[in-house]
Amino acid sequence: MLHSQKFGWPLLAHEQSHSWDGKYRRPAELYSKANYQGPERTTLLWVYEGLNEYIGMLLATRAGFNDPAYMRDYIARVAADFSHEPGRSSTALVDTATENWVIRAFDVPWFSTRRGQDYYDEGALIWLRADTIIRERTQGQRSLDNFLRSFFGQHDSDAIVVPYTREDVEASLSAICSFDWHGFFEEKIYQVNPKPPTDGLEAAGWRLVYDTTPNNEPFYTDVLPITYFGDYSIGFSVKKDGTIFDVVSGTPAYEAGLGPNMTILAVNGHAYSVEALNEAVAHPEDGKIVFTVRNFNSVEIHQVNYTGGVRFPHLERIPDRHDYLSEILAPRI
Ligand SMILES: [Zn+2]
Repeated sequence: MLHSQKFGWPLLAHEQSHSWDGKYRRPAELYSKANYQGPERTTLLWVYEGLNEYIGMLLATRAGFNDPAYMRDYIARVAADFSHEPGRSSTALVDTATENWVIRAFDVPWFSTRRGQDYYDEGALIWLRADTIIRERTQGQRSLDNFLRSFFGQHDSDAIVVPYTREDVEASLSAICSFDWHGFFEEKIYQVNPKPPTDGLEAAGWRLVYDTTPNNEPFYTDVLPITYFGDYSIGFSVKKDGTIFDVVSGTPAYEAGLGPNMTILAVNGHAYSVEALNEAVAHPEDGKIVFTVRNFNSVEIHQVNYTGGVRFPHLERIPDRHDYLSEILAPRI
């Protein structure tokens, strides 16, 4: 369902782009004409899907499916997700690609510890950094668009597959802009990297901030059963019926012993509703919120110590920093 022209789906552009990034050009390790019996080799999904996620964001915005403000809100949200992800300290991004067929389910608890299919949206943020590196180093003469044309455009052909390796990607990038691309991807994708991937945003002239304005409804709301997003504040998300969907490790909710699949019966003595929960998070009395929850057959009281109020992620311009992001998302004439 397309909600409106303003709030469209990057997903549509993403899927169309797979004709080039995924079908025509495909990781060699994934492409085998001879034998489909062995395991799938998926380490290069940070290109197949991560780069394609970035392309989807660009195409959908450049084509007017969604406006730049919607896209910035979307990017802020995924950047915030990666900024609240303890699993980054133990799991390299490439591992989320390698084991993608195990972690594909999105409704398994302790997501932030386990990590999810982060090669999609973290991949997109890393490709944003690659885009800004090319723009910076060529004084705006070139961008990732040049790489996309050379790597995926090539020449018209029948329906064929042209496989590639990581070395091919790095060599093609180097042909557009001289840089240590191998070291770049090694640090961001192949090694454990606890730092949130926000350097591309900052290089593009924007930084991640939090305020009390709720985010746009994400395009995947129809399939995700969450009605309260408190991941960036108290540290949990809640389903419509009051059941805790997930808890982020290390947050106030986690420290208070709350966990996935507990059902909130009352907040500060008031029967559970999204409004009551939001009010309690927005204005905690004496820095604490008291939850009455059902945990299997027990009814328990958990006190969360929290004073931060409601927090939602957004992007804010960095004064005097070149605004690459607006240029990247602008329609092409
Ligand atoms: Zn895809």
